[in-house]
Amino acid sequence: MTGITGRVALVTGAARGIGQADAVKLAEEGAVIAALDLYEESCATTVGLIREKGAQAKAYACDVTSSRQVEEVVAQIAQDLGPITLLVNNAGITRDNLIFRMTDEEWFSVINTHLTGSFNCTRAVQRYMVQEKWGKIVFTSSTSALGNRGQVNYAAAKAGLEGMTRTLAIELGPFNINVNAVAPGFVDTEMTRATAYRLHKDPEQWKQERANQIPLRRVGTPRDIANVVAFLCSEEASFVNGQVIYISGAPGRA
Ligand code: NDP
Repeated sequence: MTGITGRVALVTGAARGIGQADAVKLAEEGAVIAALDLYEESCATTVGLIREKGAQAKAYACDVTSSRQVEEVVAQIAQDLGPITLLVNNAGITRDNLIFRMTDEEWFSVINTHLTGSFNCTRAVQRYMVQEKWGKIVFTSSTSALGNRGQVNYAAAKAGLEGMTRTLAIELGPFNINVNAVAPGFVDTEMTRATAYRLHKDPEQWKQERANQIPLRRVGTPRDIANVVAFLCSEEASFVNGQVIYISGAPGRA
């Protein structure tokens, strides 16, 4: 893939799972990685994996729900590594519950992490992309945006991200900035393992059950998502703008 080499990429929620795979794949394509998560130490594995490949990465601590922290860390990254022209908004949490049991905390923590967090990071980073007249932003939606029982907070946040993607594709397109989203289905990470435990299921058995419902008869890997994220960050995707690409082994929600 072309166009990624030498670019500074900010990946949020990069400590593990899909964010880690996004960071490693973009590093393989030549990007310099700012790996951001709640704690700097938790990005040590990601940074190590990237450096092992001879690529450059640095860890940053930030809670994406705080616009102050995001503004500060983005300024620091630009100072350390240079203007940020690739942004992968990936940090996320789940707090599942049926609506009659859902607390304010469960609602707001999910909305704030996905929707406000992605907004904070995008607002802070787009100014570098506008200056450079080049940028790629990838949001992380989910098949849950199409509706999923027990996830009214998460589904609303993910559907909101899809609206944000289309709107910012219109606003930022004239500055040669592409804005797109990936919408993964079931991907084998800590997040889905935690869901299995919450449902009192063995994670391997839960994974197999979900795989049986997917036409391709397997669940996704973080690398499946990272491959599409890298494509959206590349020049090969330079005429793709405002799109949400579902990556679920199925036409939509399996
Ligand atoms: P993980 O839980 O494995 O990783 C999420 C990462 O985000 C963690 O390192 C977490 O840190 C970090 N994070 C959470 N809140 C914040 C915050 N406020 N500021 C900074 N970092 C934060 O999740 P996945 O890799 O599975 O998911 C990544 C993204 O993909 C999420 O947006 C998720 O909604 C989406 N997705 C995942 C699917 C799946 O099946 N796994 C399916 C569809 C979408 P910490 O561990 O310290 O909390």
